[in-house]
Amino acid sequence: MRVDGLQHSTAIDEAYDYVIVGSGAAGASAARVLADTGASIAVVEEGPAVPRTHFPDKVWPAFHNMLRNMGGLIARGRAFIPIIQGSCLGGSTVINSAIMWRVPDDVFDVWRDEFGLQAALPPDALHRQWDRVERELNVHPVFEEALGHNVSMRRAAERLNLSAAPTRRGDRGCQGSARCLTGCPHGAKQSMHLTYLPYAEERGATLFTHAKVERVFFDLGRASGVSGRFQSPGQKGRNFILRARKAVIVAASAIQTPGLLHKSGVRSKHLGKHFQAHPGSPLMAVFDDGGNLWKGATQGFDADEYRADRFKLETISLPPELAFVRMPGTGRAWMHSMAEMANIRVWGVQLRAFAEGEVRNGLFGPDVRFDPNARDMRNLRKALRVTAEMFFAGGAREVILSIHGMPERIRSVDELDVFDRAPDNPAAYSWILSHLFGTARMSVNRSKGVVDEHFAVHGSPNLYVVDSSIFPTNLGVNPQQAIMGIAMHAAENIARRHEH
Ligand SMILES: Cc1cc2nc3c(=O)[nH]c(=O)nc-3n(C[C@H](O)[C@H](O)[C@H](O)COP(=O)(O)OP(=O)(O)OC[C@H]3O[C@@H](n4cnc5c(N)ncnc54)[C@H](O)[C@@H]3O)c2cc1C
Repeated sequence: MRVDGLQHSTAIDEAYDYVIVGSGAAGASAARVLADTGASIAVVEEGPAVPRTHFPDKVWPAFHNMLRNMGGLIARGRAFIPIIQGSCLGGSTVINSAIMWRVPDDVFDVWRDEFGLQAALPPDALHRQWDRVERELNVHPVFEEALGHNVSMRRAAERLNLSAAPTRRGDRGCQGSARCLTGCPHGAKQSMHLTYLPYAEERGATLFTHAKVERVFFDLGRASGVSGRFQSPGQKGRNFILRARKAVIVAASAIQTPGLLHKSGVRSKHLGKHFQAHPGSPLMAVFDDGGNLWKGATQGFDADEYRADRFKLETISLPPELAFVRMPGTGRAWMHSMAEMANIRVWGVQLRAFAEGEVRNGLFGPDVRFDPNARDMRNLRKALRVTAEMFFAGGAREVILSIHGMPERIRSVDELDVFDRAPDNPAAYSWILSHLFGTARMSVNRSKGVVDEHFAVHGSPNLYVVDSSIFPTNLGVNPQQAIMGIAMHAAENIARRHEH
């Protein structure tokens, strides 16, 4: 059943076994598992349900309908870095590239050795969840026919003998239309609004949309429900109260979860702290290989050769409007660049940053601080240099830097040392944040984290957090599959704890 807050003119006060806040990778995965137990479930989503027939082929309406703050949320540091998140039924999975990775072994080692989480996040149990995710979302390397221009990275990796492979993604019948970021128009991408949310709905879950949870309320120390307001543009929406007989499960994302917990009275010196990310920074190049930037899987090839250097490289396909805004220059020169836009390739560096930031409740929503540090900047420069070298090995005619104060283009590997002279200041580069972690981190010890080994907020036995806020560190790989498996593992534990 679905309840759209926009259409709802009366207040609501209802009770469920579990109330899940957020319908993205984490919330939907928890709902999928709990739905199998026969429990009654409410999934509460602030954004709209956008049917796939309404996925526009233009960027602006897609950003308007599906992105938080239309993509205008910013992390403040020396640079202003956009934070991109989905805010719609299915969360960021509707607008992401569906790349799937498990938590790497070296990350598990840190979680075990530094955070004592071997029992809470046991690799064996999590691998079983990831097996299930891969089966149910049809995770596989991008097929040859959908690769399109992404093959240029294969050429480069073969020539330089680097580890790279077709990207593993969850899709059924990707047509290589480069439109993941505005919602897959073919229903091929296995986002949560097409998979786990309908699964839960068919088993009785109620999906609330346009419904923003404002706080969790408590009764004698136990979380007994959530209250909020239906979102109604231009007017004050109706209030809703959703009572939880068993538990409240927060899965609002690493940016929204800490604020919601704080507004609900949760106090911990770690709440909102330790914010970690994989800042992404693109590099562009001009090819003459007949490929086309907007034909091919949104992300089709990635290189994990440099894990020890804390970066990963990915090819990106973009619709023309998004590609144009990345192109430096003005006037005639810029128009000339636009004319050859189809020949451009965009590859992204995904940095496993050392920097830790902070998320607080600001006047107009989350106030996010994040500043890549000196070690991150060193790794970024190396990553950009490697990317440029790969571009040339793959057949690029020119590499376009987009770094303030540096030459606009370089034309051969003889000029690669330009990256060694590139600035230390993050403000000179273009960035994006979309992999977000750590703001309510898990620790068995209350003095070191916000949630305990059962995913419950320390001191609140039936208020759980299951999104990547609880991750003690970032991963160095794309997080969706990790988040899903961990949320499913959490949900199984929660169901066991509240069996009776
Ligand atoms: C453009 C883009 C591309 C990406 N590509 C990939 C990729 O290919 N592979 C990968 O592994 N990862 C990718 N990611 C990251 C991945 O999508 C996220 O890490 C993942 O979706 C996070 O899951 P989540 O459930 O924590 O948050 P989300 O999926 O963001 O969902 C959180 C949901 O909670 C809702 N919410 C928040 N606060 C409230 C509230 N108070 N009341 C009600 N609802 C609320 C939000 O509206 C949102 O819908 C990408 C992200 C973006 C933005």
